Amino acid sequence: MHTLRNFIKINTGFTCKNCRKRVKEHPAGGCRNHCPFCLFSFHLDSAVPGDREGICGAFMVPIFAEADHKKGAILTHQCQQCGHRNRNRVAPDDNWDKICELSRIPH
Ligand SMILES: [Zn+2]
Ligand SMILES: [Zn+2]
Repeated sequence: MHTLRNFIKINTGFTCKNCRKRVKEHPAGGCRNHCPFCLFSFHLDSAVPGDREGICGAFMVPIFAEADHKKGAILTHQCQQCGHRNRNRVAPDDNWDKICELSRIPH
């Protein structure tokens, strides 16, 4: 299996490395960049496909959620290892209870 490093970009579902749940493909046909159950992400890819620089492969933890008028909810992830932050759009089947929790945390 050589697809592991790229699994986040592949819209065929994957098994989350954090909560071990089976994640189905994105319902709207977009790319998953985080787990819909635990909302964890991984520091694997950037905005530029194939760009492997500065990619450490560590967990990226959701630190807060905010509402965006144009894009819906935005989740901010922070890499546990290098501190890199990423803003990600929320998928339609993401865990809303968790997202609401994160939006109440002062930041
Ligand atoms: Zn998960
Ligand atoms: Zn990192």
